[in-house]
Order: sequence, then C-alpha cells, then structure tokens
Amino acid sequence: MDRCLLLAAESFDGARFHHSPRTLLLDNDRIEAILPGDSTTDATHLPEKYRRAETAVRRVPFVMPGLVEGHCHLFLDGDETAFDVRAAHLKKPFEELLATGRQSLELNLAAGITACRDAGDVHGVNNALREELSADPGASPTLLAAGVALRKAKRYGSFLAREAQGLDDLPGLLETLLPQADQLKIMLTGIIDFETGTMKGGVQFTLEEATLIQQTAARAGKLTFCHCSGVEGLQVAVGAGFNCIEHGFFMTRDILAAMRDQQIVWVPTFMPVDFQWRYPEYCGWNQATVDELRKILDNHDEHLRLAYELGVPVVAGSDAGSYGSPQGRALIEDLVLMRRTGAAAAQVLESATSLPRRLWGLPAADLAPGIEANLLCLAESPERQITAVRRPVAVYHRGWRHELSEPTTREALLVRN
Ligand SMILES: [Zn+2]
Repeated sequence: MDRCLLLAAESFDGARFHHSPRTLLLDNDRIEAILPGDSTTDATHLPEKYRRAETAVRRVPFVMPGLVEGHCHLFLDGDETAFDVRAAHLKKPFEELLATGRQSLELNLAAGITACRDAGDVHGVNNALREELSADPGASPTLLAAGVALRKAKRYGSFLAREAQGLDDLPGLLETLLPQADQLKIMLTGIIDFETGTMKGGVQFTLEEATLIQQTAARAGKLTFCHCSGVEGLQVAVGAGFNCIEHGFFMTRDILAAMRDQQIVWVPTFMPVDFQWRYPEYCGWNQATVDELRKILDNHDEHLRLAYELGVPVVAGSDAGSYGSPQGRALIEDLVLMRRTGAAAAQVLESATSLPRRLWGLPAADLAPGIEANLLCLAESPERQITAVRRPVAVYHRGWRHELSEPTTREALLVRN
C-alpha cells in the first residue's frame, strides 16, 4: 500500500463517532497519525514523506475499524436454503468442505469483516484454515478457531462437536480438544422448537460437568463459549461461569444481571431466527409459528437493549453458515437488527469492532496512531442510517487495500431461489 492520505468526512474510532473531517496518514500497514481537518489540499503541516507526489490521496465519506464476526461456521454455506442440499453438504469430502471454508473467508472480507471467530466444526475445517493462514495470511480475515466443539453423547450438535458421556471421560476429551481450540466451544442446549416456542432436548451438561469443563479450559488458558438458549441452560452457563453465551434466546433480566456481574459476554445471533420469521415459506411455517417466532424475537430485542443498559459485554455475531445466515452478509444484517432494537449506533459498532478484539486478544484496530490500518470505508455514516454498513467501499487490512463495490443487501440473501 505504501503511503496514503485517507481523508474521511466522518468516522468511528472504535468507541466514538467523529462528525468532522479527519485525515489518516497511512504508512504501509500502520496509521502513523490522524490530523483534524482536510490535510489533502494543504500539505504544509504534513511530514515531508507524505508531501511526495507518489503519496496516494483518497477521500471517503466514512471510515471505521474493520468488523469482527463473532460467531460463524466457515465450512457451511449459509446461502443454501434447500434442506436436502444442506444435508448432503455435510457428507462431502474434507477437501470440498475446506474449499467452502476458503470461500467463506473471502465472503467475510468482501462484507468488511477483518476477523472471524469460527464456532466449531466436527471435521476440523476451521483448524485447517487457520493453519493455511498461518503459513500465508494473504488478504484473509484473521481467524479464531474453536476446532471441534464438545457435546453430550447423542445430543444436538453432531456436525460441530465430539461426544462426552460425563464426568469420567470429560478430562480426557478436553485434553484432546483444548490444544486445537483458540476458544473452547460447548453445546450446552439443543435448538428451539419454533412451533411451541420452547427448547428441544433439555440441558446437555449438568452444573457439575459444566463447571469441570470451565475450570479445565481456564487452567489451559482458554476462553469458553457455549451454544445456549432457554432459562435452564442459561442458569447452568452462568453457574459454571462460561466466558461467553451464544444465541441466548429466552433471556431474562436476572440472567443478564448475573452476566453483568461476572462480565460474561453475550453474542445474540439474531439472523437465523429473524430469517425464519421474515421468510416463513422456506420452512413451511404457518401463522401460529410466525407469531411464536415474533414473540421470541421481541423478547430478544428487549433483552439486548437491557444488556447494553446493564453493562453486559455484547459482541455481534450472526451464526453465518446456519440456515438463513449467508457468510459475511449475515453479520451486516445482524448489526441492522441490533440497531433496530433501539441500541445506540456506537454501542452496536463497538460490539462488532473494538470490544471483541479487546476481549479475545486480537490486535487492536481502533482509529489511533500506531495501530495497524485495519479499516472499513463506507459510502455514508452508519450513525444516521445503520443500513450504511451494507455499502462497503473499501477495506484496508494487512497492508492491502480492497475495493468493494457490491452492495450487500437483505434482498441479496435470496439469490439462490
Ligand atoms: Zn453456531
């Protein structure tokens, strides 16, 4: 990239919006300085090296840190809505799943995402991708991989997780899983029965088992995150002190208060449920189920607002790869849905940038001198209109600049059908 003056009419630095122009001085892959105002026309106060003719000058309406996708499954194609094709995908040879994973990383980058946390796959595709990236990161998003997740024998999650019987075999299994996991993923509950608005299958691990898992992971220096919805499961998650709760449907104020006290992170993943409410015909839902879906989503909206109010750490994640959640675009739509709950734009963007980076030990991407130029440029400010996140203009990452022009719209979700 060499040297570049990036003039942004407005910006978000990872915590706050700036409404007046600022000029970012980019030297290779670093932000060297940020000057107030437009320094592209008056070069007198610029360091000498930026006054040379070869310095590129770019003007963008809006700049912010590159996005973090907090929950995705890279080996799955979330664009695919045919149930039989999705089932057949899981039986493909490893190399084909790996190819899907590579394509998923590209789709994430194209949406402005520069870091992803993969929430597990039983084949170890995420581990293979991480290995490829460590040999040659290229332009790809940074990847945190859960490796293979953990579930209770015969319970939900066969495509993501290895089976444990209970207290006796958990230590040995954790010894195998933990070294491969940047963070350990646990399947703590099943999925939602949308027709009745209840949980299927009950809680997978007892409080004693969950506590053993948490303590073993903590001793190995690994964070934990658990697939969990429904009050019974949420109580076990909080009781065991898992570091992060994924989905968390049927959330309550008491659980949120406990999460705030223990600083347990919530990744609310609106998209897979929102898709089924918005497009019920794909799953054959009748009006009663649509009403049930709406009730579940209304409860989620209300508790997301409350989570921010109480000070629960919230991280954005879309469960991309799941049914109705296309890689890359699903996170963008999740941000739109989070904002529509009434949460402030700055809160929502912080949940998708600086906060997950800080919590998960990723390099900072804030707009600040000395930080890597890990930037997303947009065609307008998402503070005024959150849907601006659907219109990325360019991404700066690892010393590369990627021009992006394809708008990522909700309608584009349905390209296959
Ligand atoms: Zn998931």
